[in-house]
Amino acid sequence: TEKTMDKIVALCKGRGFVYPGSEIYGGLANTWDYGPLGVELKNNIKDAWRKKFVQENNLNVGLDSAILMNPQTWVASGHIGGFSDPLMDCKECKTRHRADNLIEDFDGTNVAGWSNEQMMDYIKEKSIPCPNCGKHNFTDIRQFNLMFKTFQGITEDTKSERYLRPETAQGIFVNFANIQRTTRKKVPFGVAQVGKSFRNEITPGNFIFRVREFEQMELEFFCKPGTDLEWFDYWRTFCKNFLLSLNIKEENLRLRDHSAEELCFYSKATTDFEYLFPFGWGELWGVADRTDYDLTQHINTSGKRLDYLDPETNEKYIPYVIEPSLGVERLFLTVVTEAYDEEDIGTPEKPDVRTVMHFHPALAPFKACVLPLSKKLAEPAQKLFDTLAKHFSVDYDEAGSIGKRYRRQDEIGTPICVTYDFDSVEDGCVTVRDRDTMEQERIKIEDLVGYIAKKIEF
Ligand code: ATP
Repeated sequence: TEKTMDKIVALCKGRGFVYPGSEIYGGLANTWDYGPLGVELKNNIKDAWRKKFVQENNLNVGLDSAILMNPQTWVASGHIGGFSDPLMDCKECKTRHRADNLIEDFDGTNVAGWSNEQMMDYIKEKSIPCPNCGKHNFTDIRQFNLMFKTFQGITEDTKSERYLRPETAQGIFVNFANIQRTTRKKVPFGVAQVGKSFRNEITPGNFIFRVREFEQMELEFFCKPGTDLEWFDYWRTFCKNFLLSLNIKEENLRLRDHSAEELCFYSKATTDFEYLFPFGWGELWGVADRTDYDLTQHINTSGKRLDYLDPETNEKYIPYVIEPSLGVERLFLTVVTEAYDEEDIGTPEKPDVRTVMHFHPALAPFKACVLPLSKKLAEPAQKLFDTLAKHFSVDYDEAGSIGKRYRRQDEIGTPICVTYDFDSVEDGCVTVRDRDTMEQERIKIEDLVGYIAKKIEF
């Protein structure tokens, strides 16, 4: 059976992973709220990233910097001058379009590096129509800045203008000297941060794939110039292994290296990790060698010293930066897409389709569900729930037949169901049923915590 966006969106909404934002007021386009299961999954995704990139990797340390930053930051980063999309309006039906998308969707031409004039000429030459009304009457292209603007304090003038950060990276760059000094880390080292970013996207959509408010998990890895391409390879491989370790299938992943024309002017190498979403290949993770561009820009704009003195060689240099930048929502959508399965486990006489989410146990919202076989066993089963809940997020369900309860847990990806029956009172054992194989085994209650801990290892 085919995985479609409709099915995935329906499951996410129906089971409390993701709801449309502000729904009782008719919604707010392209905003989403993460429900009880969604918030667990999201937190597990961020924890997994933090575990691999910070806790287990001695090269990196963490940071949580402010969303609102001194506006000079965005002058230095280039976001005030250059962070914009080329927009044009159809004069006939008044719809708005990104010129680059118009061309790419029309005949697949990659317009990376093209000027607005080149795009305009191409649209005229190929007589590319408005995708909405089919006419050929566009305005000129103008650049539209993607940063959300707001005001700080009581006066709304240019001096009080602030931007919501469009990436978390700049919070890391402006703290480079602080972190280096206080941790006494030697280059190479990295700074990792998870946090919200905001972009006033022109064409949001595909559920949570492109939204205006999202979370990023970014690493800025500082290394000595000349060693950067080696570290670029190191992080590329590290990132790929991270995805594979979360049971993302290799065949659904594509590492696309940017060509020379596509590369940003400051980047020596960039690879987009793409995933095969139900709507096609889409960027999941960008890994870029950003050279010394960001630190140099901040040195020039702030006048502060952000270079590094190598304590062994006494050499001074501005470190190069390797940046793997991953969206939490994009990994969420990837994980949900990858996990979704409809298994035909019926017979011709008795058709039966089992919807199951094969989440990696480390990511599953609940690690286990405790099911008393009969409501009469509620008391000891509750006690078992309390014991497990000290260690993991677990669910408890006593409503309906055991078979129905198993299916409910399959649909939300709970790796094991623990059934407490009348024998449990006597023998101190429970039946553990595996989500993926549906096999059952009897194990001692006292071994359960260790059993689950082993299962979610990652
Ligand atoms: P795109 O080409 O898809 O707009 P980008 O190249 O602008 O993305 P980056 O600026 O490299 O993206 O951002 C790094 C990562 O942040 C992306 O790989 C993606 O995972 C995530 N991301 C970027 N924009 C969005 C968005 N609007 N919604 C959700 N996630 C996003």
